[in-house]
Amino acid sequence: MEITPYYHKQIDCINCKKKFNTTKVRSKFVKVEKQESDFQPIYANKEINPILYNAFVCEHCGFSFTEDFTKYFAPGVKEEIQSKITANWNPHSLGNERTIEEAISAYKLAFLSGSVKKEKYVATAGLALRTAWLYRLLENEEQEKRFLTIARNHYSDSYSNEDYAGTQMSEVRIIYMVAELSRRIGDREQATRFFSRVIEKQSTSVEPKLIELAKEQWQLMREENEKGAL
Ligand SMILES: [Zn+2]
Repeated sequence: MEITPYYHKQIDCINCKKKFNTTKVRSKFVKVEKQESDFQPIYANKEINPILYNAFVCEHCGFSFTEDFTKYFAPGVKEEIQSKITANWNPHSLGNERTIEEAISAYKLAFLSGSVKKEKYVATAGLALRTAWLYRLLENEEQEKRFLTIARNHYSDSYSNEDYAGTQMSEVRIIYMVAELSRRIGDREQATRFFSRVIEKQSTSVEPKLIELAKEQWQLMREENEKGAL
């Protein structure tokens, strides 16, 4: 039997507890060719993009989530999900192979679900960032910038609230994301402030590659500024 890149996985909805199927990509079919300066992975095979499948959409209640969501629901949140998400939900499945547009819908639902559930800012920032990457693949710059701005703002809130603690995002990585996303959306003041904070960490950070990347992107921004001044 030929092994296909995709397989179905059964997920238990963390909200309504019902089961539904989602599609996943077998890791042997995924090879990262390079990474953009905001960590968007560029895959060797453009046809198979695992990022399309990170958000699970419950076909029963509409609640959508990723593996980063916590299982805990604060009092009152389920009622809010019922009125803000499920009441407007037309039951349908996003569990098969997805187009980029369908994946964007899945991320937007997960962003809404995560916001209603009050997931950590570091989690909602990641959802907005991935939405921006998908718009980049569609070459829709306006929507890409819109979602980069949301991601930047949520990473900034994560930094102030320190809600990245205990996740795979380190402090220096959060600061870098605020800087680089600020650069990409043209907020030079914030980009400068945060790139310099990354570089201040160079004697204590265990992520030397990130410090180097920050120096490169800061330099790139200076060159852009000089060009802009002409
Ligand atoms: Zn559900």
